[in-house]
Amino acid sequence: MKDLYIGGQWRDAAEGGRREIHCPADGQHVATVAEAGRADTEAAIAAARQAFDEGPWPRTPERERGALLLRVADLLRRDKAEIARAESLDTGKRLVESEYDVDDVIASFRYFGGIAGTDAGRAVDTGRADAISRVVYEPVGVCGLITPWNYPLLQTSWKVAPALAAGNTFVLKPSELTPSTAILLMRLLEEAGLPPGVGNLVLGAGAEAGAPLAEHPAVDMVSFTGGLATGRWIMASAAQTVKRVALELGGKNPNIVFADADFDAAVDFAVTAVFLHSGQVCSAGARLLVEDSIHERFVDAVVRRAERIRLGGPFDPEAETGPLISAGHLAKVEAYVEAGIAEGANLRCGGRRLEGKGHFFPPTVLDGCHRGMRVVREESFGPVLTVERFSGEDEAVALGNDTDYGLAGAVWTTDAGRAQRVAGRLRHGTVWINDYHPYVPQAEWGGFKQSGVGRELGPTGLNEYREIKHIWQNTDPRPQHWFRP
Ligand code: NAD
Repeated sequence: MKDLYIGGQWRDAAEGGRREIHCPADGQHVATVAEAGRADTEAAIAAARQAFDEGPWPRTPERERGALLLRVADLLRRDKAEIARAESLDTGKRLVESEYDVDDVIASFRYFGGIAGTDAGRAVDTGRADAISRVVYEPVGVCGLITPWNYPLLQTSWKVAPALAAGNTFVLKPSELTPSTAILLMRLLEEAGLPPGVGNLVLGAGAEAGAPLAEHPAVDMVSFTGGLATGRWIMASAAQTVKRVALELGGKNPNIVFADADFDAAVDFAVTAVFLHSGQVCSAGARLLVEDSIHERFVDAVVRRAERIRLGGPFDPEAETGPLISAGHLAKVEAYVEAGIAEGANLRCGGRRLEGKGHFFPPTVLDGCHRGMRVVREESFGPVLTVERFSGEDEAVALGNDTDYGLAGAVWTTDAGRAQRVAGRLRHGTVWINDYHPYVPQAEWGGFKQSGVGRELGPTGLNEYREIKHIWQNTDPRPQHWFRP
């Protein structure tokens, strides 16, 4: 299986490793792909290093690099149906959701293609007649890009597009569970004319194929999206060579509903906030905080909606959401629910895996939760909603901030002043007011606290992949005689 892309060549794994990919909805065999080992990743790093040190890409004008990204966006549009289908087979998510994801991938390439070359640095006022100075941007170098399985191509596009716009070379290591769309993307980069060695792809397990990207001295930056434990390991490993590190980790995101909220809209969004993609969303609104006076009525309404959600495979027209990614993940989600019940939560619906083919777990609501519970503090990354109650603004904010994470949160109220006050006090990287989930590539995405380091998207998402250089020029050099001549 020649699906490692190294130095412009499609290759097998050096040791002949293979991995079978199965659809999580029904176990059908989807693909057999190469399974890289450390030697393959080291070869990819060497190719990226050479392309950076000797190749044309870092010295290509940023506008031309942007033009290539725009060509890639057109090719993604051309192949949208094939890419969406591949994403759905790997992840089990509904085809329509994969189609939205491909639209977002295209938007990401268009955004970074469009802003490339629009900021060439700045002249600095030195305050001296005999000196001029400017600040310019340069690429960081070789970037290791490591991505997760929940939004495989989308998370990849948030890294590949800005890394290329800024003139870097990269080695991409997608999740071993969902490699197919990364292969398709690399083919499109090749078709769009990316020079050999600039983009490299290795597939395989994190500890083997991924680890060298955090450890190797020839890698200048590692950008990682995934779980907190892996993120800590990446940061510690990267410290040995003082690499630049960008981390997009998990979240335990509060969705705060005040009694004066638009009831029907808040219920509807509370359901989507957590059950979209069966909760396998880093910004999922998995922690519902409801004001005392509407608590019972609100939770009853959410439960009625949750019970009706129809599960099914990616091509089932009746399905509203799909399976969990793997048997291991299903067991983890189930264990979180059991722990919650053991700690005193009141199971209102769901709670037990569905028998039969596929890793299906039903929408689950746990009421009567409190912040001491594991299921409230840790990310289950499944369709599990915990409900806590609060009284008044201060308690809502205190609860919403009482988490090690800080990725996203929402506040529902018809009081405009309160909405702004609460949004201002929440320690999360994104706050929605009377909404949940929307984002645009023009605005930064990322986490406070243990949800990560740095930002993706927006101008900052490009700057993550840039070094800043100050160039000072003395236009009339004369002896200074600081020391006696
Ligand atoms: P994960 O940490 O298990 O794996 C992520 C990636 O890291 C995979 O490619 C994996 O192979 C690789 N990896 C694992 N061990 C490694 C190692 N030792 N060295 C190098 N690479 C290694 O995460 P996951 O289960 O794939 O993804 C789910 C997590 O991702 C959730 O916690 C979710 O919140 C997070 N996530 C965050 C965002 C965000 O924007 N903040 C977006 C999507 C997902």
